[in-house]
Amino acid sequence: MSPDAIVIGAGHNGLVAAARLGLAGRRVLVLEAQDAPGGLLGEAGGMRVAAMPTGLDPEVARALALHRHGLRPGRPLATIALGGNAPVRIEGGSVRGIDAAAAAAFADLHRRLGRHAAALAPMMAKVPPRLRDGGWGDLMTLARMGLGVRMLGRAQMRELLRVLLSNVWDLLDDEIGDGPLSGALAMEATLGGAMGPRSPGTVLPLLYRFAGRPRTMPEGGAGAIVAALVKAVEATGGQVRTGARVAGVLTGDDRVAGVRLEGGEEIRAPLVVSNAHPRATLLDLLGVRHLDAEDARRARLMATEGMVARLDLTLGAAPGVPGAGAPDLCDRMVIAPDMKMLETAFNAAKYKGIPERPGLECHWDAGASRLAVSAQFVPCGVKGGWSAETRDRLLSNVVSAIDDALPGTAAKVTGVTLATPADIEARFALPGGHWHHGEFRVDQMLMLRPFAGAAQYRMPVAGLYLCGAGAHPGGDVTGLPGWNAAGAALKDGRRA
Ligand SMILES: Cc1cc2nc3c(=O)[nH]c(=O)nc-3n(C[C@H](O)[C@H](O)[C@H](O)COP(=O)(O)OP(=O)(O)OC[C@H]3O[C@@H](n4cnc5c(N)ncnc54)[C@H](O)[C@@H]3O)c2cc1C
Repeated sequence: MSPDAIVIGAGHNGLVAAARLGLAGRRVLVLEAQDAPGGLLGEAGGMRVAAMPTGLDPEVARALALHRHGLRPGRPLATIALGGNAPVRIEGGSVRGIDAAAAAAFADLHRRLGRHAAALAPMMAKVPPRLRDGGWGDLMTLARMGLGVRMLGRAQMRELLRVLLSNVWDLLDDEIGDGPLSGALAMEATLGGAMGPRSPGTVLPLLYRFAGRPRTMPEGGAGAIVAALVKAVEATGGQVRTGARVAGVLTGDDRVAGVRLEGGEEIRAPLVVSNAHPRATLLDLLGVRHLDAEDARRARLMATEGMVARLDLTLGAAPGVPGAGAPDLCDRMVIAPDMKMLETAFNAAKYKGIPERPGLECHWDAGASRLAVSAQFVPCGVKGGWSAETRDRLLSNVVSAIDDALPGTAAKVTGVTLATPADIEARFALPGGHWHHGEFRVDQMLMLRPFAGAAQYRMPVAGLYLCGAGAHPGGDVTGLPGWNAAGAALKDGRRA
């Protein structure tokens, strides 16, 4: 029997979309190219690319009853900023390891940014409104968004608008000065993007990560999220088929009609939801003949240069945080001693070089004896191309930065797996290997995400929707793009 809906890709957003469609009574088939579900969060190719999934939206988790499928909430995350004179431990608005005046300044900044993030949160979680030809629903959404900001009061509203247009360097340097604390916050603002701390628009990503309430690492980590989502899809009668790469989207009568797999098999369905990158969805799977010239140009030109490499270091013994011993599953270690160092790394990456000191986010998984490292400011298209020499240089720069911050770690390394952005691009059909499936910046956000004319999850052919991180609100493991895309498809289905 043909399915009612096909989801291309079993990334976490594809699985969320499939489960929501299934709960609404649709028979869903998820087709995944890799041999395992989960996308960047899964274990395809021997590495879990997204090592620290700490932002799953609690309302999405509740609506899909993920607790019934084995997902248990974990403890809130702590950030340990390394590379300074002593480790600085950040938990929410409280910080240890710096003097009392600096800690008070940080607590005050954290409180104000938290208020700004809360005012923006409805914008980030909901379907962005259509501005030109929207209806009452769009106007109401817009009004609610405006109200949240208005409720801040005149002074805070003015302050929010000021910082939104500025850069994270100016904000942090002004409020708390440069050092490991600012380095860790600037890392949060820039991680996954192709912008340095001094680039305009970098306060917004910081608020995006603040807006998602306190972040927690679920019990069992990434694997537990993927397993619960697959069970949620199957509980509604849906099926997840791995090793099934979609080669094209079929159309007929000016709307979607199904998909064609590599190898030629055709599967018919009136609804197709794509978890693939926006450019791949439109240019490779749908085909340029279905697009007007402007949409094709925008899909081709969208900014999607990834700048994060992933390394898994297998260690013979746990790394030791100076003065604190072994980190635990909820500790996120950031090695970015100051913002200047991050900006220097970005400058190298901008011109396609490998930075001597990339910004590092590390996570120790004691069960697997593995230190998962995300190295920020490693360009996808490195000058001269990726080779054994450039890979070795990157590895040596990363290991020596880790050894400086966590002394003795280099001597414990017994194995290494490295995935450059170019490796991630190739493995996941993900242009640029980009963390957010497309840069998270002002001209590719909200009603402009992935680009003007292709927003609100609806693609230019009726019945085709985009549900991955390239859609609003973007990447990280939140489930929101998948949830909203399925909602848009169901709404259109009721109207038809
Ligand atoms: C290096 C790196 C590190 C990251 N670390 C973190 C982290 O620690 N924490 C965090 O929250 N986020 C992290 N992220 C971001 C996060 O991984 C992504 O934002 C998120 O996984 C996107 O989920 P998704 O479901 O939209 O897409 P994906 O996870 O990319 O899944 C898309 C799926 O579609 C499949 N697909 C594509 N084309 C086809 C086709 N033609 N046919 C069939 N299947 C297809 C792919 O194989 C893939 O499985 C990281 C990203 C990167 C690049």
